[in-house]
Amino acid sequence: MAEETRTSSAGGERSGGDRERSGPRGPRPAGGPGGPREGGRKFFRRKKVCKFCVEKIEAVNYKDVRLLAQFIAESGKITPRRLTGVCTPHQRRLSRAIKQARNIALLPFAGRVQ
Ligand SMILES: [Zn+2]
Repeated sequence: MAEETRTSSAGGERSGGDRERSGPRGPRPAGGPGGPREGGRKFFRRKKVCKFCVEKIEAVNYKDVRLLAQFIAESGKITPRRLTGVCTPHQRRLSRAIKQARNIALLPFAGRVQ
């Protein structure tokens, strides 16, 4: 015979009570950030069109420095496609042309040393 002894602790604690928070605070000084900040970008978006497609330039000539220079950043790096809008096949030819032009010193490897 086994007796089970249950110990049921029924704790019915009532946590009641009306808590009224009545804290009359002082009038808030209208603080916070003052005027709306105007953070306007200076770069405006232009509709990106591949320049080579528009002008129907099939092969990018590495001797055309003026053309290549448009796709080179100030630092001498090749501007990424997402910035210039050049399509992929043209970007590939362009980068190759730029590298060729660099090799024969038409374009700088590095523009400015900071
Ligand atoms: Zn293109």
